[in-house]
Amino acid sequence: MPKKPSPRWSDATLAIHSGEPKHGRNAPVTEPIVRSSNFTFASTAEMKRWAEGKSKAYIYTRFGNPTLAVAEAKMADLENGEAALVTASGSAAISSALLSVLQAGDELISTRQLYGGSYRLMRDVLPRMGIRVHYVDANLDGVDSLVSAMTRALYVESPTNPTLGIVDLRKAVALARKHKLVSLIDNTFATPILQKPLKMGFDLVLHSATKYLAGHSDIIAGVVAGNWERIAKVREMMVFLGGSMDPDPAYLLIRGLKTLEIRVRRQCESAMAVARFLEGHPKVDRVHYPGLPSHPDHRLAKRQMTEFGGMLAFDIKGGLPAARRFCDKCQIFLLAASLGGVESLIVLPIYTSHYRMNTVELSAAGVGPGSVRMSIGLEDPQDLIADLNTALS
Ligand code: PLP
Repeated sequence: MPKKPSPRWSDATLAIHSGEPKHGRNAPVTEPIVRSSNFTFASTAEMKRWAEGKSKAYIYTRFGNPTLAVAEAKMADLENGEAALVTASGSAAISSALLSVLQAGDELISTRQLYGGSYRLMRDVLPRMGIRVHYVDANLDGVDSLVSAMTRALYVESPTNPTLGIVDLRKAVALARKHKLVSLIDNTFATPILQKPLKMGFDLVLHSATKYLAGHSDIIAGVVAGNWERIAKVREMMVFLGGSMDPDPAYLLIRGLKTLEIRVRRQCESAMAVARFLEGHPKVDRVHYPGLPSHPDHRLAKRQMTEFGGMLAFDIKGGLPAARRFCDKCQIFLLAASLGGVESLIVLPIYTSHYRMNTVELSAAGVGPGSVRMSIGLEDPQDLIADLNTALS
């Protein structure tokens, strides 16, 4: 029997104790990995009950598994959802969630500023399935005029990858409700520590759990959270498409979640220090960090986030050659894609998250040739600043 979380528990406590069993005598403190692809029935009568949908027994790990269930309970509680589902990747979470609400003939409205993979799915794959996608900017202007009788869902990401734009989440929910659309948000950059979209009225929250949730750059994973009914539909789609998580990464996700709150708080603090340093540097054109008062959406970010996150981007003077020279000189920052781990990372979005996009698409996404994106890790912020200072000199 899992422990019942108290409504008074804060995120740090929920992340550690939600979904965990009541520990009795000789119980392991950490969650065992149930490394089994299938589970036994006690009898054919039980088998029949399962086939009739009358039993929630585990039968096969693609449908569910006790280790996965612990990670799901933690994420449901952290996101204020009734339920959550873990998946093999953030991309599996996104495709399963979208396909649980869309079918041929339907239309989707999405913000243009998105993780490149989500954008490419909408640009290259959904149309082949007869699903039309319309795009709006992060300010959501024009949603009203794009809605048709076939529009089913509104998809946003906030803060956006890579330029840290902020979508007004209350406005997104109001628009979705007005037009009876399912609202979905990619909450990867914010994490449930900084932003709780289900509490604001979103229907489904998605994550690349590869990033902050797991937090150590050692697994590929995804999460979807929402109410029972919607998560059941996403689970059904995930079972069909096969994007289920294995028990080993689920264990690492559980372990990562236990330190999520303290990691994210420290990363926010360090990102703010780095953003201030960069903003004052003569070789830097513009810093994109929602915690800086100079960020166009600073006040909005303050209203809907508890802090501003560990991601930032900046445009370096001198364009691509200068950006490449700078990145190649960094010592502590690793030149690597992905984000949200303990190591600070640096990338050029045109060569990573936003590869295979033309100049119009790049400029709509706010990505310039000299744009540099950074994920701030858990190193000492003064060491990070010294590294950047040397690389900029
Ligand atoms: N959403 C965002 C914001 C991302 O940055 C990424 C990956 O970089 C994804 C989703 C996709 O997640 P995954 O790589 O775990 O499939």
